[in-house]
Amino acid sequence: MPAERPFALVWFRRDLRLQDNPALHAALVSGHPVLALYIHDPRPADGWALGGANRWYLHQSLLALQQDLAEIGVPLACLKGDAEGEMKGFLTRRAVAKLYCNRVVEPGQGEVEADLCALAERGRIEVETFHDDSLLPPERVAKKDGTPYKVFTPFWRHVSDLLQRNGVEQRLFPRPRPAADPLPADPLEVEKLGLLDAHPWHRKLQAYWSPGESSALKAFSRFLQERIDGYDDWRDFPARQGTSRLSAALHFGELSAARLYAVCQGRLAHKADEGARAGIRRFLAEIGWREFSRHLLHAYPRSPAISLNGRFERPGAWAQDHNDRRLRAWQRGETGIPLVDAGMRELWESGWMHNRVRMVAASFLTKNLGIHWRQGAAWFWDTLVDADLASNTLGWQWVAGCGTDAAPYYRIFNPQLQARKFDPAGEYIRRWLGDGIEPAPLVDLGASRDRALQRYQAVIRGASG
Ligand SMILES: Cc1cc2nc3c(=O)[nH]c(=O)nc-3n(C[C@H](O)[C@H](O)[C@H](O)COP(=O)(O)OP(=O)(O)OC[C@H]3O[C@@H](n4cnc5c(N)ncnc54)[C@H](O)[C@@H]3O)c2cc1C
Repeated sequence: MPAERPFALVWFRRDLRLQDNPALHAALVSGHPVLALYIHDPRPADGWALGGANRWYLHQSLLALQQDLAEIGVPLACLKGDAEGEMKGFLTRRAVAKLYCNRVVEPGQGEVEADLCALAERGRIEVETFHDDSLLPPERVAKKDGTPYKVFTPFWRHVSDLLQRNGVEQRLFPRPRPAADPLPADPLEVEKLGLLDAHPWHRKLQAYWSPGESSALKAFSRFLQERIDGYDDWRDFPARQGTSRLSAALHFGELSAARLYAVCQGRLAHKADEGARAGIRRFLAEIGWREFSRHLLHAYPRSPAISLNGRFERPGAWAQDHNDRRLRAWQRGETGIPLVDAGMRELWESGWMHNRVRMVAASFLTKNLGIHWRQGAAWFWDTLVDADLASNTLGWQWVAGCGTDAAPYYRIFNPQLQARKFDPAGEYIRRWLGDGIEPAPLVDLGASRDRALQRYQAVIRGASG
């Protein structure tokens, strides 16, 4: 049997797309036949095994990617297990000349990447890695004194300046041309990863999401046509579809942040209407928050587990009474506080929650119920299709008031006032709660707010109790 012609191997990770994919592009122009690989490690060393909703989305997105790759003549191989061991086995079985991958900006993922690259190099396989997930590599952004930014506004100003000067166009690549001889896609390959739970609870998610690059591009284009100009006016109203709902697509890299940024900048340059310009700028700033989350996670790799303000890890910072019962009521949307319950049911039903309601639900859990933000973050991690270590950590620490650039502790969201302001006709609440009878409130909003402020006073005095 003739020896296999050596391959260019593209290791897919959070870049499940063909367009604007630097690693895939480099492999395709390398002159070698191209092979794609995905490795799912169900027990990653960093402890952040994927949550249920995230796994469902990933499964669907990989099926779409496999189909797209088949059209350009690239087969996708899927492996399940410890990433280093699986890659080692693969490299011994197949003739690989070069390994290409896009880096993932997460502490545990960075280590996996370094190990795998070292492994490939020991086998004399050339390795090329690319920056992809955020607009700029997090290590390139620092204050003048070399320390990380802790506050969003100066961070985003600095990043925007750097982007204005250098642009992102060099990272935009056209979709590769279809092959003359496309391949059949074998869904059993993706099934091997065992991403779906045996109990088909996830079927309901199909009504809300269609993962994959083509759907993400269509959703982005619809958002540009219909909603971005009014984004600044409508983004806070959960009953309206005022936001892009692109968070899961961005998390899995079905759409690149660089493309999003370049398209929005292009639009900004051609829009004269001040309202529309405000919408585009505001949307870009939200992409900026995503960027900031990566900056902070890179600077503080332990932040998914530990409050950045260490005072919030002291005894007495969180209420200890009835946590289990109250936590369950919050998870099930049975707190008796309509906006919180509507949000938690939206999350359970659809795998997503509107940002305004995420803030209100997180504030209620951490301040009114006094439950540690880690417990809320863990629930979101398991139930969000867009669960993202950097954004989830930033969101929770920001609301709990223990992060770097946090909402001042005393600004405790009042869910009733928030509902009156952002869901004035009660449309969102009715959509998720129906006309059923709400249980009695788990806590009195005023009294629990006062208790939160007392706990906070004790925390800043350094007292316990
Ligand atoms: C407690 C809490 C937990 C959160 N957990 C996550 C999470 O696990 N994954 C996640 O992607 N987002 C998270 N967010 C941020 C935000 O709620 C979602 O990104 C947003 O609701 C997604 O909807 P969208 O795509 O329609 O957003 P849009 O309003 O259309 O914004 C566009 C994109 O900008 C990014 N973005 C927007 N707001 C933020 C933000 N505050 N922080 C970081 N990125 C942002 C997202 O990638 C989003 O898709 C969390 C926020 C809070 C308060």
